[in-house]
Amino acid sequence: MAEKRTEIATLGEFGLIDHIHERIKLQQPTSLSGIGDDAAVIDAGGEVMLLSTDMLVEGVHFDLAYTPLQHLGFKAVSVNVSDIAAMNGTPHQVVVSLGLSNRFSVEAVDALYEGMRAACDQYKVDLVGGDTSASPSGLIISVSILGRTLKGKEVYRRGAADNDILCVTGDLGGAYIGLQVLEREKEVYLTNPSMQPELEKHQYCVGRQLRPIARMDVIHELNELGIRPTSMIDVSDGLASDLLHITKHSRVGVRIFEDKIPIDESAFQTALEFKLDPYTCALNGGEDYELLFTIHPSDYEKIKNHPDITTIGYVHNNLKEKIMVTKQGTPVPLKAQGWNHFA
Ligand code: ADP
Ligand code: MG
Repeated sequence: MAEKRTEIATLGEFGLIDHIHERIKLQQPTSLSGIGDDAAVIDAGGEVMLLSTDMLVEGVHFDLAYTPLQHLGFKAVSVNVSDIAAMNGTPHQVVVSLGLSNRFSVEAVDALYEGMRAACDQYKVDLVGGDTSASPSGLIISVSILGRTLKGKEVYRRGAADNDILCVTGDLGGAYIGLQVLEREKEVYLTNPSMQPELEKHQYCVGRQLRPIARMDVIHELNELGIRPTSMIDVSDGLASDLLHITKHSRVGVRIFEDKIPIDESAFQTALEFKLDPYTCALNGGEDYELLFTIHPSDYEKIKNHPDITTIGYVHNNLKEKIMVTKQGTPVPLKAQGWNHFA
């Protein structure tokens, strides 16, 4: 009889992670929280250590035709720092593993590390090790990060409660729109190499895609304001998908308002130029690396005038109702479109 074979695409990325999770048992009392959040939480006495890893794969996460290696190095560190921020922690150390093909020169590796060094300087993180291997199929950068916070200060995806206010930092959709710009310019270049790329006027979105910045600034500010979010996640897969992680883990419903979703003006205009709905880009685009978090209503006064934090909705106890109220006032269910790299 033929062995059973199940395509990974039938589960999708999150289904596969759930499948793995079900088969893993934690054995160490120091492993306070394992698979399922932005970082694992490990007991370290009066503090907890936060451990996370994120991999960037050529052809899946980036295209070297339009990705400068310095930016790629910076991004590889940023996306990891973002997961530590999402746990309300401070990043301390990273290790970096590289899969390199012989297409790469020493100068190329230098450029990659220059970007990583710039990010390490920005976030005050030390690069303390890694691993190097040949990779016949393309460049692979895998970064693992260790962060810390005081025990009890860490924030999970699971703490949102009835009446909490839902907040997001910065603006959304820009990174996805930037990717559309880069893809278009690549096509133009392939058809006519003498054409100059038209990136100037799309600088903001392109920067959001190529060189995202983790919101450690907001983590420090919330700390200074004496606010500990009740739940938090970083927006890596798109507002809808990441918000549904919070509602699933917290066992709550949510109501957000389309007209409150923050979108940068130039990103908005570029989306329209591409015949894309800017709000759909914000909901499903991903890679913005902003923070999505809930706060207790009593903390609202402290953040309501913050220029870089927008309140976009609230949490409630009706588990079946996870909705967005459109600009026309129509409630529509939130759906996780996200990405399925295995489809
Ligand atoms: P994030 O987008 O915050 O980096 P992911 O969606 O990649 O998180 O992963 C969700 C959770 O699943 C995390 O806790 C992560 O550590 C865990 N995870 C992802 N892939 C694997 C894997 N192959 N084996 C074990 N755990 C995994
Ligand atoms: Mg995350």
